[in-house]
Amino acid sequence: MAENGEEETGSVEASGFSDLSDSELLEYLDLEDTQESSASLSKPGPSSELPGKDDKLTSLPKWKRGLDVSSPMERFHLKHLYVTDLSTQDWCEQQMVYGKELPGFLAPEKAAVLDTGASIHLARELEVHDLVTIPTTTKEDAWAVKFLNILSMIPVLQSEGRIREFPVFGEVEGVLLVGVIDELHYTAKGELELAELKTRRRPMLPLEAQKKKDCFQISLYKYIFDAMVQGKVTSASLIHHTKLCPDKPLGPSVLRHARQGGFSVKSLGDLMELVFLSLTLSDLPVIDILKIEYIHQETATVLGTEIVAFEEKEVRGKVQHYMAYWMGHREPQGVDVEEAWKCRTCNYADICEWRKGGGVPSSILEPLAKKVK
Ligand code: SF4
Repeated sequence: MAENGEEETGSVEASGFSDLSDSELLEYLDLEDTQESSASLSKPGPSSELPGKDDKLTSLPKWKRGLDVSSPMERFHLKHLYVTDLSTQDWCEQQMVYGKELPGFLAPEKAAVLDTGASIHLARELEVHDLVTIPTTTKEDAWAVKFLNILSMIPVLQSEGRIREFPVFGEVEGVLLVGVIDELHYTAKGELELAELKTRRRPMLPLEAQKKKDCFQISLYKYIFDAMVQGKVTSASLIHHTKLCPDKPLGPSVLRHARQGGFSVKSLGDLMELVFLSLTLSDLPVIDILKIEYIHQETATVLGTEIVAFEEKEVRGKVQHYMAYWMGHREPQGVDVEEAWKCRTCNYADICEWRKGGGVPSSILEPLAKKVK
């Protein structure tokens, strides 16, 4: 179907938010602000960055942006980004920025789609292992659960088993990128395959633009996973970005579960050492095949699969471009004219400065307009 077809542009899937239903939605645990929450072994914690309902639908004052000299990472108080932040950025960078600035904009119907997607993920995960909820009170505890998950999955991967919800993290272009791989398994030929599950509200495959965004997302997972098993991700970099305290004693629940898993650790630092040693010494292969499975959320039937060719140079180029925004080296950009059809289903179309400026940030247009007067 044509990308500007009426049929698809009216759907939730076409808005660029549908893939937030994947496992990374569950990962939207705010690790920085963990006060009293819980995390699950073999899956990230349940709290989310889904918006509150009371946010006012107003644009940020332009003067505020004009005066703001901090980078978006600082402005949004972010210590890391999620892989889905970058894939949403790939759909429309300006839309992703509005999502951060005005989170209350997410329509209830979209929230419902995300919920259903998360449930399907959970059901799939339960097929391969039980979930154990572990109360966590600090960000160190939350990361410790992530590490315990990794430690429990490495031997399964080594014995050519199937794992789900594998946490990945690594520094990319100066920013820590965090994500969760849906599934890793081996093919009949012994190749390591990454399978990403995407739920669809309607029983049809997505537009090419949506597929492109999904391809970028799973390419990023491979990028980070490969770096992890090749020993390119270091604990020093993780501590630097997250400001974790490796010496802080872990909470009693986390310690209990670590003991049950056979790990004799006291602090996050002990666990980190174990994780980085295991990752590099266990001789895990890099990912050979990237596969996306599109599933109809109501019937759970597979609508189609996509095998993605990993283009490292292209992925790196895109990441460099997107990180330049996060580091404050350039203004956010909206869609190109050829992709203006995306604006039709965008929640922010009425307030979008990029759209109002005809494809140029209005912060650039304003001084020009003043000069003309
Ligand atoms: S209106 Fe268009 S350019 Fe603006 S945020 Fe939405 S999709 Fe992007």
